[in-house]
Amino acid sequence: MSIEADPTLVEGLDAWRSMAARQQPSWPDAEALADVSQRLGAMPPLVFAGEADVLTARLAAAGRGEAFLLQGGDCAETFAEATADNIRNKVKTILQMAVVLTYGASLPVIKMGRMAGQYAKPRSSDDETRDGVTLPAYRGDAVNAHAFTPGSRVPDPERLLEAYHRSSATLNLIRAFTTGGFADLRRVHEWNRGFLANKAYARYEETAGEIDRAIRFMAACGADFDALRTVEFFSSHEALLLDYERPLTRIDSRTGAAYDCSAHFLWIGERTRQLDGAHVDFLSRVRNPVGVKLGPSTSADDALALMDKLNPSDVPGRLTFITRMGAGRIRDALPPLLEKVTASGRPVTWVCDPMHGNTITSASGYKTRRLEDVLDEVRGFFESHRGVGSVPGGLHVELTGDDVTEVLGGSEEIDDAGLARRYETLVDPRLNHQQSLEMAFQVADMIRR
Ligand code: PEP
Ligand code: MN
Repeated sequence: MSIEADPTLVEGLDAWRSMAARQQPSWPDAEALADVSQRLGAMPPLVFAGEADVLTARLAAAGRGEAFLLQGGDCAETFAEATADNIRNKVKTILQMAVVLTYGASLPVIKMGRMAGQYAKPRSSDDETRDGVTLPAYRGDAVNAHAFTPGSRVPDPERLLEAYHRSSATLNLIRAFTTGGFADLRRVHEWNRGFLANKAYARYEETAGEIDRAIRFMAACGADFDALRTVEFFSSHEALLLDYERPLTRIDSRTGAAYDCSAHFLWIGERTRQLDGAHVDFLSRVRNPVGVKLGPSTSADDALALMDKLNPSDVPGRLTFITRMGAGRIRDALPPLLEKVTASGRPVTWVCDPMHGNTITSASGYKTRRLEDVLDEVRGFFESHRGVGSVPGGLHVELTGDDVTEVLGGSEEIDDAGLARRYETLVDPRLNHQQSLEMAFQVADMIRR
């Protein structure tokens, strides 16, 4: 039996159109945009409402300290890099990290990609100047092209459809990888042994040895490894382009509620989280689990007001706060938020994004981060939660499965000169495969109680 859509609910999904919406492209042709919206609206959903509900339950567990979220992927996916190799390497990296974190936390790890839809970027400036030429900024492949030519930078709504198709193909491959035997625990464990064969990572051998013994113990006990052959893997992206999110929002025939079926989890960025803004309004009307990025200037009252707007019925798992304070500020900026939100007794899942508060420009001119700072912010996150008695629920990282050189540091020390070797990101710097695994081993030690 299916439930009829409530006309007021459907009308509300367009309320954002009369509100201030920051960071939206200036689409040059309203008619072309309307045509794309209509075509997107006729496409099948990328995810099911029921899957989003499962994720809400998983995130509720993370909020209570009964699970831990690992959310990772590129700052911005690109159409050119939506290849089988790239997708496989990212999924593999996340699965490898998850095994290490599962062991460290002795908790189930919720695996989520910043994948299959992360094609739009907020920018600090609307345009970019090079050698005296000023053009509109690159806003992600869903909007315009990165090449610095006037034609490339004009927003093209056809790109929203391309983003949909790339997301669909990506998600299809992710589903195949995670249910078709690729994610088998024993296999992921073997990859981790391969990583540790490199003597640069000798410091992690002890933890790796413990994991190895734990797996052999399980095998000896006759553990059902068939049940460990598949994993749940969720998709997520920043819900930035409302012209993409709205047409992919559907009324669930089971419940009559609206779900944004472009991904399981959507978040609102630091630049678009105004209480009276379009993004908060739109996501307040869909039932997916949602996140909000909180930077160092966030007040406890801002956080409480976002809770009122986005989770008025206090559904556990519905709202995740992704804090991105910076290593130098987290120990001062986070505890006051944690105290007030915890005192309210209302459910929130707290996740640490140790990337966006730690971006610097290297002497050689690259936008980069230091692995040391990233890890220090994670340490500050655990310290802050332990001090207040709240629950550190997960980690949000920008990473890739390849050997890029975008972040400074790591045991195979990438220095300032080394950045040039393989700096490929179009937007923010990502941890490479090895740095990601190092992070997992170090965080595993921080989580242990
Ligand atoms: C991002 O996640 O890439 C991003 C832009 O983050 P924030 O909104 O936290 O600045
Ligand atoms: Mn980023």
